[in-house]
Amino acid sequence: MGDRVDWQQVRSTFQKLWGYDDFRPPQGEIVRSLLTQKDALIVLPTGGGKSICFQLPALLQEGLTLVVSPLVALMENQVQELRSRHLPAATLHGEIPRRERIRTLRALENQSLRLLYLSPETLLSPPIWDRLRQPHLRINGLILDEAHCLVQWGDTFRPAYRRLGAVRPALLQHKPPGTQFAIAAFTATADPHAQKIIRTTLQLQQPELFLISPYRPNLNLKIKRICTPRGRRQQMLKFIQAHKKQSGLVYVRSRKDSENLAQWLQSVGYQTAAYHAGLGGDERRELEQHWLENKLQFVVCTCAFGMGINKPDVRWVTHFQAPILLSEYIQEIGRGGRDRASADALTLISEPTGLLNPEDKQRNQFFSEQQQKQYRLAQTLSQKLPKQGEINTVSQQFRGGAIALALLHSAHQVQWLDPFSYRQIGKINPQKIKQLSQTQTQIQKQMQQYLNTKTCRWQFLLNAFGFSSEAVNFKCGHCDNCKNN
Ligand SMILES: [Zn+2]
Repeated sequence: MGDRVDWQQVRSTFQKLWGYDDFRPPQGEIVRSLLTQKDALIVLPTGGGKSICFQLPALLQEGLTLVVSPLVALMENQVQELRSRHLPAATLHGEIPRRERIRTLRALENQSLRLLYLSPETLLSPPIWDRLRQPHLRINGLILDEAHCLVQWGDTFRPAYRRLGAVRPALLQHKPPGTQFAIAAFTATADPHAQKIIRTTLQLQQPELFLISPYRPNLNLKIKRICTPRGRRQQMLKFIQAHKKQSGLVYVRSRKDSENLAQWLQSVGYQTAAYHAGLGGDERRELEQHWLENKLQFVVCTCAFGMGINKPDVRWVTHFQAPILLSEYIQEIGRGGRDRASADALTLISEPTGLLNPEDKQRNQFFSEQQQKQYRLAQTLSQKLPKQGEINTVSQQFRGGAIALALLHSAHQVQWLDPFSYRQIGKINPQKIKQLSQTQTQIQKQMQQYLNTKTCRWQFLLNAFGFSSEAVNFKCGHCDNCKNN
């Protein structure tokens, strides 16, 4: 569409397809930016009508828009919705039946698709990659949904995310001269540090920034200290009882905890269930459905629950255990009150010494140790890896090789030649890896600072997420600290 956008046509297509009168800010601006092929970084709290921002430009243009998404459920939801409107969208992932997969690949070759949803691993798999780099196949954009997946390290980290920055240059090499396409990264949560990582990892070129404040005037934040494991359960029970028949979520940090706690809640008469990544796809879908239909008042879940599930009337969210990262916290409390009516978010933490109840301390320590292990492995491997090589070969030869390379990339010790191979930048400097791990520790401390702050909770969050001018003298008036002062 070039630089000139026929805005009348854009709006009328929007109205025709989705039936809304007009865009909600900043939807219109994002659509315009994508139509003019500009890179963009969009930090938009959940429930902000995000997917329309990239679906509409994709549908308005000839050619293909790639949407990289971390979860099958997320891709399925969006593709089903688009297809119900007879729009040319499809998804490819491991659970797709063979026949449908063949049909989608054919549609890709015929260029009859406008939107293709896929995981980063699928995008970089040979059958897809070979088709995408066909010179005649026109690509209009690469959309990264849930872009924070690229930033958050941990046991669920997927090294393919780190390599997405190499996708555009590698594809453009095969396209006619002068070809361009835009990259847009969407996330509900990214502080300035995370924004920088997203920008550099994806190699965004002078991206337009759309940063929307995380503040939610209807979310009431509260942290409560408890002394014993028993006290923790009693506090939670009290909180649930105070929200009789209201829809909610209980967050814990591990599969085992979600099962234990769900069992205990069942034993005291609640109809609930554990939800975590260890359950099968069908089982998860069924629980989501029951919760959406209010057959279950709440589920006891890990962070596996949430992305892509939209329930407007969630009146409460409890963190039975605090998340490790502030960005996880923001995402998880963000499931509450999407209908803009009041919602309560309570986090339970043990007293700071950990003498009476060491659980919280132990969990944080365990997480840090796991991370340190990853860093140490990267350091060790960095001495053994060839200076240049194929990522696949390295991950076959060395356990943890792909993650180690991703960490080395993030410490600026290796660069990608394309999404499949790397080269060391000069001599590996172990100090740089150490610095990276120190930054990570710093990020984790932020969560502890938040839990212990005596000032307005939202003021702390505004500062942490880069909205420092809004944060000056900010008092929400409805968090525990504002109410106590
Ligand atoms: Zn406040």
